[in-house]
Amino acid sequence: MKIKEIVSALERFAPLPLQDGFDNAGLQIGLTEAEATGALLCLDVTEAVLDEAIALGYNLVISHHPLIFKGYKSITGKDYVERCILKAIKNDIVIYSAHTNLDNAQGGVNYKIAEKIGLKNLKVLEPKENSLVKLVTFVPYAQADSVREALFAAGCGNIGNYDSCSYNLKGEGTFRANEGAHPFCGAIGELHHEDEVRIETILPIYKKAEVVKALLSVHPYEEPAFDLYPLQNDWSQAGSGIVGELDDSETELEFLKRIKKIFEVGCVRHNKLTGREIQKVALCGGAGAFLLPQAIRTGADVFITGEIKYHDYFGHEGDILMAEIGHYESEQYTKEIFYSIIRDLFPNFALQLSKINTNPIKYL
Ligand SMILES: [Zn+2]
Repeated sequence: MKIKEIVSALERFAPLPLQDGFDNAGLQIGLTEAEATGALLCLDVTEAVLDEAIALGYNLVISHHPLIFKGYKSITGKDYVERCILKAIKNDIVIYSAHTNLDNAQGGVNYKIAEKIGLKNLKVLEPKENSLVKLVTFVPYAQADSVREALFAAGCGNIGNYDSCSYNLKGEGTFRANEGAHPFCGAIGELHHEDEVRIETILPIYKKAEVVKALLSVHPYEEPAFDLYPLQNDWSQAGSGIVGELDDSETELEFLKRIKKIFEVGCVRHNKLTGREIQKVALCGGAGAFLLPQAIRTGADVFITGEIKYHDYFGHEGDILMAEIGHYESEQYTKEIFYSIIRDLFPNFALQLSKINTNPIKYL
């Protein structure tokens, strides 16, 4: 199996267009045409992680955090990133990273954290905006089913836990084919009336090219009419953070102790305990403090994230319990997502979670 097959499996799960503007998710180093000898899964790429891959004889390292974030004018080994780049190239290792695209994807980083805590009824805390498009097209009755099916196969019509969503209205289309046209129905130079179905469906904006291509390939008309409308709806299936519910409420202390254990946190930092019961939990792996206002607005009892700045703690005792569990600690189980995506598709492929704790922060 080629490395590019694994990369495309990861990108079907967490499409690159879902990444945030600052990010550099995707292929970092290497040639994906190579046969994959095995994949090592990690949170961060370090020299020790690359040594681990080399020792295993694996030529693919898949990380959550991208190794490369900036442009380089020289690569001389003056810092750990450059040394990793040199080591990877020298040993024919491909490095691939799924970062904020995996944070924002359904089933991504925050879903994994929620699973570890045991949350139900999950909802995205801050759904993506300006990411959806409405497609409207007009198709002769007899071809409506095949056009709809092609659109759904190309990625249209997904709303929450439903697929194949569309609205269909019967009507009449008119056209006159001029000289040089090759009309599917009607005659050259004559005004034609055709019974048509107006099909409306929804798609993520990044699938536009793929969907239009599918539409043009299946629509019977020489010049299919279609409209694409930008939508102001939030995309409730993609975005930052998660909010969910516990089956049974817990006291603040019970909850914090449980979190400390699950995520093996050296020290959980939190704001003042006020005696509230914890039932509704908002969370975001990594540096998620920017979601505190959304967590408060959604009525969560607690907000858990990897990093919170000192000043951000002030003044929220009455709003919410805030708990900071460490960046590495919060995202460490991301490796398990890579594992299940690849294992499901390629059951016999050599695959291993890195045994190296790459957390640079230690607790005294
Ligand atoms: Zn992170």
